[in-house]
Amino acid sequence: MSLSRRLYLEQMGITLWQRRDITSSQGADLVPDTPTVAKTTVATTTQPDAMTTKMETLNELAPIQFAQEPVVQKPVVQEPDPLIQPPATVENTEAMMLEPPPAWLDIPPEVDFDDGFEPVFPEGLAEPEVPDMPPAQAIIDPWVKRAQDISQLDWDALQQQVSACQDCPLAQTRQHTVFGMGNKQANWLLIGEAPGSDEDRLGEPFVGRAGKLLNAMLTAVGANREQVYIANTVKCHPPHNRDPNAPEIKRCAPFLERQIQLLQPRLILALGKVAAQRLLQTEAAMASFRQQQYTYGENKIPLLVTYHPAYLLRKPKEKAKAWEDLLRAITLVPVTGQDSP
Ligand code: URA
Repeated sequence: MSLSRRLYLEQMGITLWQRRDITSSQGADLVPDTPTVAKTTVATTTQPDAMTTKMETLNELAPIQFAQEPVVQKPVVQEPDPLIQPPATVENTEAMMLEPPPAWLDIPPEVDFDDGFEPVFPEGLAEPEVPDMPPAQAIIDPWVKRAQDISQLDWDALQQQVSACQDCPLAQTRQHTVFGMGNKQANWLLIGEAPGSDEDRLGEPFVGRAGKLLNAMLTAVGANREQVYIANTVKCHPPHNRDPNAPEIKRCAPFLERQIQLLQPRLILALGKVAAQRLLQTEAAMASFRQQQYTYGENKIPLLVTYHPAYLLRKPKEKAKAWEDLLRAITLVPVTGQDSP
C-alpha cells in the first residue's frame, strides 16, 4: 500500500497494521494491500490521541512480505569454438599428425573439369570455326583505311573512285564530280577551292568567270591552261556556292593527296585560303601566306600561295599583288621545261 493511501485511511479513522511476529511463511499467505487486521480508533475508550496513534501505528508496521520465486542463476557453460584452434604444442601437433587428413586435402592437384558434355550441331551444319583474334594493328578507323587505299590507286582508278564517291553530303547535290584537268606532266599544279555551279554542270575546273580570269593570268606569264594541271581541294560543288566545310575538305583530302603524289609537279600554286590552309595544315589567315615560300610533302615540292581568281573579281585592286605572286612563281619554276629561267 502506498503511504499516501495509508495516510488517507488514517485521516478517515482507519489504521492499518501488521503484527511484527508474523513470519515470512505466514506473510506468504497475505494478499498484497489487504489489511490483516483492521481496528477503528473509535471502538475503545483507552485510545491515545490521534497523532500519537498515527505515529505508533506507522512505526509498528512491518514490511509486507510477498510470495516470490527465487531466481536461480544457471552457470554459463562455455562451449569450445570450433574455429579457434588450441595453441599448438608438441603433444597436440603430434596427435594431429597421427589423425587422417581432412577430406578436402584428398582433391588431386590436376582436376579435369570436362563434364562429359559436348555441343551437338544440327544435321548438315558444320561446327563453326572459331576465328583467331585479329592482330591489334588490323583494327583501324575505316576512314584511315580508306585513305590508305586511295593512296595506292593509279590515275584511272583514282578518277573512277572520285566519280563514284558518296562519302560526304556533297555527293547528294552535285551534278558532276570535278576531278581536274590539264597536263599530267606539268611543272605547275594550280589548286583551287571547290567547283562552282558552272564547273558542277560541265565537270571541268575553272570554266566560269573565275576560270576566265585564271586563263588571263596564265596568259600574262606566257602560259596557258593546257600546260599546267588544274585541280580543286574538294571535288564536288557545295550548294549555293558556299565554302566547303571542314569535314567535306577532310573527306576529299586523300584524293588531292594522291593526285599530287602521282603528278609530282615542280611547283604547287595554291589559289586562295581554302587550298592554302589544307595544303599547309594550318588555320592561318590568307595575308600571312602570301610572299612566303613553303614546301609540300616528303618530296618538298615548292609551294606558293596567291589570291583566288574569284576574290580578285571582287577586289580588282588586289590583282597587282597576284601579279607579283605569279612573277615569283615563274622565277622559281618555269611553266614548261626543266630549267629554271
Ligand atoms: N573556284 C574554284 O575554286 N574552283 C573552280 O573550279 C571554280 C571556281
